[in-house]
Amino acid sequence: MATEELKGVAVEISGAGPAGLAAALTVARAGGRAVVHEHNADVGGRFHGDFQGLENWTVKEDVIEELGRLGIDATFEHTPYREYTIFDPEGRQFAYRSPQPLFYVVRRGSQAGTLDACLRDQAVAAGVEIRFKDPSQRLAKGGIVAQGPRGSDAIAVGQVFETDMADGAFGALSDELAPKGYSYLLIHKGRGTVASCLFQDYHNEKKYLARTVEFFSKKVGVRMTNAKHFGGTGNFLAPRTARKGRLLYAGESAGFQDALWGFGMRYAMLSGGLAGRCFLDGCPEEYDRRWQERIGGLLRASIVNRYLFEKLGNSGYATLLADVQKYSDGRDWLRDHYAETWWKSLLFPIARRAVRTSQKEAGCPKEGCDCTWCRCQHPPLKA
Ligand SMILES: Cc1cc2nc3c(=O)[nH]c(=O)nc-3n(C[C@H](O)[C@H](O)[C@H](O)COP(=O)(O)OP(=O)(O)OC[C@H]3O[C@@H](n4cnc5c(N)ncnc54)[C@H](O)[C@@H]3O)c2cc1C
Repeated sequence: MATEELKGVAVEISGAGPAGLAAALTVARAGGRAVVHEHNADVGGRFHGDFQGLENWTVKEDVIEELGRLGIDATFEHTPYREYTIFDPEGRQFAYRSPQPLFYVVRRGSQAGTLDACLRDQAVAAGVEIRFKDPSQRLAKGGIVAQGPRGSDAIAVGQVFETDMADGAFGALSDELAPKGYSYLLIHKGRGTVASCLFQDYHNEKKYLARTVEFFSKKVGVRMTNAKHFGGTGNFLAPRTARKGRLLYAGESAGFQDALWGFGMRYAMLSGGLAGRCFLDGCPEEYDRRWQERIGGLLRASIVNRYLFEKLGNSGYATLLADVQKYSDGRDWLRDHYAETWWKSLLFPIARRAVRTSQKEAGCPKEGCDCTWCRCQHPPLKA
């Protein structure tokens, strides 16, 4: 569309997380008008200054460059990590290394320097209107739903703390520390995050976190002061559609998250950007095709990866980690294992049925429905 025509484009967005703000930035930078309705008083409400990894392996292009193409400037703290040390259930150590960053450590929450606060500031500077304390249940004229997760397909429990340890990134695969998930420890500039990501047995979260802290204390000598507890949930799904009429679902609202290990930030911003672009181009009906093209294969492969991972158990984790040694570049190993292959496509229908997910697809049996989460409430229409 020409710039003059774009001035008439007004897009309503529900949720000021990475998906919603990426959508808003895409619209605003192209000259359109974006209004974001946010439930909380500020951005990043479900995070606590904890470190997360912005993955940089699913495609060859660097994630920071890809975000730049979406109109997202890397004004947020983002530190490249080229090495990741991971332990198997026996405590044996394996190293992933790459000349390119494996991931960028970013901070989440509302404080200055976090991904959330910097996206907010960029959006406001670009002319986006963010209405805080304004939960939206309906978008009558259509828009983008980016409200984050609704259920718990996985949970993370952890602590943020201060430390005098050197920077480093560590992980552990063991059902004693994080059933069917993983534990991680990220240290950066005197701050740390330690957490256990559980895909099962949520009720024993305290036990798994205590074991995780003890494990990393023994292995890498974690030293923590001013530790504060945090926790959160995640949804994942490889949907057939993320559209309901003129409502486009982005980020975790659509279930867009790596089902294997819960990396969701990149897909959130990509899908938000794509949803915004579809409104700018005047073709919301194109959204499913566009996100499928960019992340559909990755989502399907991640469901198969999760299905297989859940079958491994402790002895299988050790074999999986030993396989990394066959690659001189750990980033290549990860990219190969995240890619959709012909045999993963064949296995996908079985994996989709077997992998537990609480997320639902965006379809609604009631014609003309405009509520953002109606799909949980409307009973199927009788034929
Ligand atoms: C503890 C933890 C660790 C994680 N670690 C990683 C990691 O290392 N790497 C990675 O890539 N991903 C990680 N993730 C996942 C990642 O944080 C999410 O996938 C990502 O934040 C999803 O972005 P989003 O915009 O879809 O949703 P959110 O970030 O959840 O944002 C949704 C926004 O919508 C708002 N909202 C909700 N309902 C309404 C409503 N009705 N009206 C208006 N606004 C509403 C919320 O308040 C929120 O601000 C982690 C998640 C957790 C919980």
